[in-house]
Amino acid sequence: MDKKRPPSVDALARSVAELGLAHPLAVDAAREAIAAGDPKSAAARGLAIQRRMLSPVINGTGVLLHTNLGRAPVVYASTGDYQNLELDLETGERGDRQAVVGGLIARAVGAEAAMVVNNCAAAMLLVLVALGAGRDVVVSRSELVEIGGGFRVPEVMAASGVHLVRVGTTNRTRVGDFAEAIAGGAVAGSDVALVVRIHQSNYRIVGFTEAPGIGELAGLGVPLVADIGSGLVDARCGWLDGPPPAWLSGEPAARQTLEAGAGLVTFSGDKLFGGPQAGIIAGRADLVAQCAGHQLARALRPGGLVLGALQQTALAYLRGDGAAIEFWRMAALSVGDLQERLGTYERLGLRAISTASVPGGGTLPGVEIDSVGIVLSGDRTSALRGQTGPAAAEPAAVRPIIARVHEGNTIVDLRTIHPDDDGEVATALSAV
Ligand SMILES: *Cc1c(COP(=O)(O)O)cnc(C)c1O
Repeated sequence: MDKKRPPSVDALARSVAELGLAHPLAVDAAREAIAAGDPKSAAARGLAIQRRMLSPVINGTGVLLHTNLGRAPVVYASTGDYQNLELDLETGERGDRQAVVGGLIARAVGAEAAMVVNNCAAAMLLVLVALGAGRDVVVSRSELVEIGGGFRVPEVMAASGVHLVRVGTTNRTRVGDFAEAIAGGAVAGSDVALVVRIHQSNYRIVGFTEAPGIGELAGLGVPLVADIGSGLVDARCGWLDGPPPAWLSGEPAARQTLEAGAGLVTFSGDKLFGGPQAGIIAGRADLVAQCAGHQLARALRPGGLVLGALQQTALAYLRGDGAAIEFWRMAALSVGDLQERLGTYERLGLRAISTASVPGGGTLPGVEIDSVGIVLSGDRTSALRGQTGPAAAEPAAVRPIIARVHEGNTIVDLRTIHPDDDGEVATALSAV
């Protein structure tokens, strides 16, 4: 019998490598295909490997800070040059990577000083370790929550070596509860290093509730650390052309929280701040210096790429140029601005609807922003990601488009799509 032999792994891998896949990965695809008894599937397997890699996508979900899509989009490119990351160009001496970018962020939020770590969870960890390790930290029971992605406040506190003193109840906590704990009423021999306030970013306790204001908590004689999380720089939103959007109301802002007396605020770089993933610690210079001087600060520090992108974001705030911050450019679009772009879609026979965007990223739960979308009948989300149909069999000509399904139909929200991408998106939508 002259049975046809399967192609060699090498020959198959070389055909897959035409996709531009690195050779060892093309070999993986070839091996998988041969093991499955289906050598012809090697190219599709190679494409699947390619699609798992980080790549640009178009966000049609209307979720401005989409955690699965990297929260705030940032326009930033490295030139490939060296950077004066830790060199003072004036003296030629070693410089401080935190000083310049931290200083710009401090200016933007009205703080004496600021420093940058990897994310807000790291900011909280560093603050607790540097300022509270081995001592008592007082927190309201209403804030001992899980913020998302397994960031559990009580666990972070335990991991940082502080002794957590819980006060108040789930729905009501008064300033007197904190004062009593600090005076030693709650814990014999208490040694309170900090009062910590954690913003209820992604949940609400409603009804019969009570919580002390920042000003009250700041007056208790120990530093108040406010984890505001979302990174709203200033409640007045001076970087926007108009007044602050109504949907922001009630969101704590860094500047006003510090003005009300907080010793430190911590927040994420990639939520309402609109920058890259980072955690900011801003406030009193002595407290920031204690955090920066702790051993752990080095383990949590960001690299030049992140600091460069943060510098650019901070400068946009200082110029009052919200349009240069992608999150704020998208957030500030009016329904009229979005409707003006519909022609590109309607020319291809696509149908527009009114829809609602959301801030996302674990901020502002329940908040909706009026928006405009394109509706396709049925669930087309897989095809729009390029997973089914002709696009799945060949290297994607268009970027994957992430859409959402509402009541059985697919909705693509124009707010989170860059106007430059309208033509590409319209073509892709009319093709599925
Ligand atoms: C989002 C959030 C965090 C976690 O921030 P990461 O930057 O994702 O680590 C912590 N605290 C609050 C209040 C938040 O909203």
